[in-house]
Amino acid sequence: MAVKHTPTGIVHSGVKGGRTGCGFNTNENPTHWVDSHSTITCDKNGCKN
Ligand SMILES: [Zn+2]
Repeated sequence: MAVKHTPTGIVHSGVKGGRTGCGFNTNENPTHWVDSHSTITCDKNGCKN
């Protein structure tokens, strides 16, 4: 599962309502995050791998 950060367009590993693979808390700015089935584009540790 992936979650997209809409202001940047970057797709992270994780789900809306939780933490991304690289450590962002999607609950802090919930309107910025949407569940996505797109390919993960974040290159930080935890999302990339
Ligand atoms: Zn990430």
